[in-house]
Amino acid sequence: MAQNHVIKVSKKTLAEMTTVYQPNRLNKTVPYTVFVAKVGTTTITAYQSGKVMFQGPQAEKEAARWEGTSTTPKKKVSPQTTTLPADFGNWSVIGSDEVGNGSYFGPVTVCAAYVDKSMISKLKALGVRDSKELTDPQIIQLSHVIKELIPYKLLIVEPKKYNEIQPNYNAVHMKVALHNQAIYLLLQELAPTKPEGILIDQFTPEKNYRKYVRNEKIQVTEKLFFVTKGEQYHVAVAAASIISRAAFLEELDKESAELGFSVPSGAGSKSDQVAARILKKGGLDLLANYAKLHFANTQKAQKLL
Ligand code: MN
Repeated sequence: MAQNHVIKVSKKTLAEMTTVYQPNRLNKTVPYTVFVAKVGTTTITAYQSGKVMFQGPQAEKEAARWEGTSTTPKKKVSPQTTTLPADFGNWSVIGSDEVGNGSYFGPVTVCAAYVDKSMISKLKALGVRDSKELTDPQIIQLSHVIKELIPYKLLIVEPKKYNEIQPNYNAVHMKVALHNQAIYLLLQELAPTKPEGILIDQFTPEKNYRKYVRNEKIQVTEKLFFVTKGEQYHVAVAAASIISRAAFLEELDKESAELGFSVPSGAGSKSDQVAARILKKGGLDLLANYAKLHFANTQKAQKLL
């Protein structure tokens, strides 16, 4: 499960990181390090050499904050193995994206959405774009609109199920299986129509994706393209991202309603506190219905009790 991620930074960035991570510093002295810190599930070890190591399921995400300032080329981290054809944005495309993998509470949701070229301008006019630029209410509202307009498949792995699967699937493997399945189901629904391309919002190098797909009973391996920030390259990924984020937010709301108190997204200290409250109410059995138990938050919550 643990993922390691190493970047090399300048002296200036290292100084900046030291300041930024000051509140998260661990009381730990390791030879040749400037600091050791922990942010959520990510342990950050900064060496005097300028090498900074990020460890944990969210390592890549945390490291990405500093990637622009890194002296290591970004492609070493997440190889951009696909070059998209110049006019790809105007093709009829299945886009897929997932949400929830970095949040302690809530499900993992994956959506594959098909946008025929005749629908591209309409979706753009409706404001379908990078979900990071949209507010939660906008995302939920847009998701309803998109679902009426285009074919899609949405898979939701609720925490209970996630906790059953997780010991046998690492995070990347699970995502690959879900993307593959969502795309396969959508292709079946579309037949005999075929997309000109399938764009997966990249979360692992293409080689890795293809390696894990080989474990699946039914494998979609053709016309696949992988890019990070896929929503910038085709509106189908933006649509998939909005639908999966809305589903994630709705599930979180459902969890909050069931529990009678608000359940946060993310994996910060608020999550530890809420988890402790659930543990107190019904122990790990209850918590397993709401949270991804393998996150470090579980242990932190147990300590809080
Ligand atoms: Mn994504």
